[in-house]
Amino acid sequence: MSNTLADQFSHPIIAAIAPFQAEYVAIRRDLHAHPELGFEEVRTANVVADALVRFGVDEVHRGVGRTGVVGVIRGSGPPGNGAVGLRADMDALPIQEEAQPPYRSTVPGKMHGCGHDGHTTMLLAAARYLAQTRRFNGTVYLYFQPGEEGHAGARAMIEDGLFERFPADAVYALHNWPSLPAGAVGLNRGSMMAGIDRFSLRIFGRGGHGGHPQHTIDPITAAAQIVMGIQSIVPRNLSPFDSGVIGLHHIEAGTKGALSIVPDSLSISGMVKWYRREVQEVLERRLRQVCENGAASFDARAELSYEALYPPTVNSPDEARLVENVARAIVGEERVFLDLEPSMGSEDFSFMLLERPGAYFRLGTGNPTPLHNPSYDFNDEIIPVGAAVFAGIVEEQLRG
Ligand SMILES: [Zn+2]
Ligand SMILES: [Zn+2]
Repeated sequence: MSNTLADQFSHPIIAAIAPFQAEYVAIRRDLHAHPELGFEEVRTANVVADALVRFGVDEVHRGVGRTGVVGVIRGSGPPGNGAVGLRADMDALPIQEEAQPPYRSTVPGKMHGCGHDGHTTMLLAAARYLAQTRRFNGTVYLYFQPGEEGHAGARAMIEDGLFERFPADAVYALHNWPSLPAGAVGLNRGSMMAGIDRFSLRIFGRGGHGGHPQHTIDPITAAAQIVMGIQSIVPRNLSPFDSGVIGLHHIEAGTKGALSIVPDSLSISGMVKWYRREVQEVLERRLRQVCENGAASFDARAELSYEALYPPTVNSPDEARLVENVARAIVGEERVFLDLEPSMGSEDFSFMLLERPGAYFRLGTGNPTPLHNPSYDFNDEIIPVGAAVFAGIVEEQLRG
């Protein structure tokens, strides 16, 4: 017998899932080899839908929120006992894969660098277990969502009637987490992931001859002041006990090699991270003031466009406690980590948590490589663990 991670756990759900591990690893590596970006998950959706049919779920619905798929499993007890929604994201990232596993990406410039290939596989494994055993009363909805990486695929499913057609009473999702030990579960009874907004700023000056600056309005000098002014907003306008980030990650002006041309305009884009609505309001208001007043002080003009992207991911306490209890039973007390430092990363499962109570938890991979790294590879050993926690949540919440 090989000594795998799953062998270290004695829980019956893991024992029921682990015998199919070779098949799940094959699915995960097939998805890894064929990454698709947000709303392009046509092949992935087919793999998911075919597997759900093969695993005996009761209904499979395609095209929910464009490329999303929903599976439905009814329990063996009375159907009126409620419903649970489990979410997995399916999309890959626009990154060129650098590692060379035999199942490396076959698509140039695209790779599964966030482990969503593993999330999808774990939910499929949970689906098979739940369809085979049906030790719950009520309904399970399996939400395979497109476009988590900045495309708001969860919102697309909701706008397509997700909760009217497949009405879960509570929703759950996980994310593989390299900095936790393999098979560990981590979560909070509140904040997990930050809200994110994006903005783009244009600064309009007056172009002209570099030798005659008095006839120009230089947008680069204005931008230099504005950039530093923006970086004073978080430390000077937020309480030291609040969290926020304003990041400027792209700036563009002028023509390279054009030695004596003052450019006409300049563009900057960036992002804002926050947890509390009050913080979001302060950051947006001050950003606007610093940009507009800063440009005016140079006789230039600023135009800021600001767009709310993902709300923060905040667990509801009762559902978080349910995950804690299930995780303790499955992976053991010593592998459950509570009161984690919330991440300033973002996650569009937050849109589902605005509609329904629920919880989002981290599942450790023990991987030395961080998420979104060009050498990232999901740890297949945790497939039975993540699948078992998903299935355990259903059996606990929909107990007869
Ligand atoms: Zn990601
Ligand atoms: Zn991710």
